[in-house]
Amino acid sequence: MSVALFTHPSALAHDTWPEHPERAERIRAVLRALEAPEFSGLLRETAPQATIAQLTAVHDPDYVDAILAMPKDRITAIDDDTAFGPGTLEAALHAAGGACAAVDAVFEGWADAAFVVMRPPGHHAEPDRAMGFCFFNNAAIAALHARARWGITRVAVADFDVHHGNGTQQIFSNDPALFYASSHQSGCFPGTGQGSEHGIANNVVNVPLQPGTTGEAFRAAWETQLIPRLTAFAPELLIISAGFDAHAADPMAQLRLREADFAWVTSALLGMADACCPGRVVSLLEGGYDLNALAQSVAAHVRALMRL
Ligand SMILES: [Zn+2]
Repeated sequence: MSVALFTHPSALAHDTWPEHPERAERIRAVLRALEAPEFSGLLRETAPQATIAQLTAVHDPDYVDAILAMPKDRITAIDDDTAFGPGTLEAALHAAGGACAAVDAVFEGWADAAFVVMRPPGHHAEPDRAMGFCFFNNAAIAALHARARWGITRVAVADFDVHHGNGTQQIFSNDPALFYASSHQSGCFPGTGQGSEHGIANNVVNVPLQPGTTGEAFRAAWETQLIPRLTAFAPELLIISAGFDAHAADPMAQLRLREADFAWVTSALLGMADACCPGRVVSLLEGGYDLNALAQSVAAHVRALMRL
């Protein structure tokens, strides 16, 4: 299967504080892993900048203006976790724009699926608030871009990052034609994502997992709870918020997944998408903070996307 890989050098120039886990080395590690010969078939593309219209389809215009006007001569603390530095705006614009270009790739049909290797991540960003390392909600921006550009209505996000995508859920929960499905560690940042959160039209499904959960229970959650709901929703496009911080080696949380579990969930989601939206899948890098585990997990994810 032809898979497009979108990235941009600005992802390396978004400087966070020293010792910050969300760092440029993450992108370097991922891209190095994807240099292996087995990935030579990837269609390597440059992620463009998002337009203001793409951003304001999701975010409040005043919030977008405030981000555009942030100081670019120093690192500013948005909160205890989230740093805006001189290169942040350009990286955030290319991360959101790469997500939109990935949507275009699968609808234009020259790629069967697409993966966006950019940072900052997006799933914590709310319409009017940056948080949790995130500034623009790349998954939601891609979803609303797909609607505006390609005339579809029903878009689903599947999020297996170890943290709950509070921003994506907030944006999706009031629109019955958007669907958000997440597995994440119970009690972790940001604290949302209870099983009781259902959205306006039962269009949100959360499966919190206890610390220590292994791949077996993770796979069961997707197989019996999350994928059946995604299948019933029948999206015209599936977006994956692909975070790899549920890996056993990741320092941010205590789930016990391995590379094979990320390959499994990717293949399971592709199988669902094959049935609903002829395989149109756009995957966006979210978290993952142990560099080796991240690189190997991304390799497993992309191998599955390529159906190798
Ligand atoms: Zn995360």
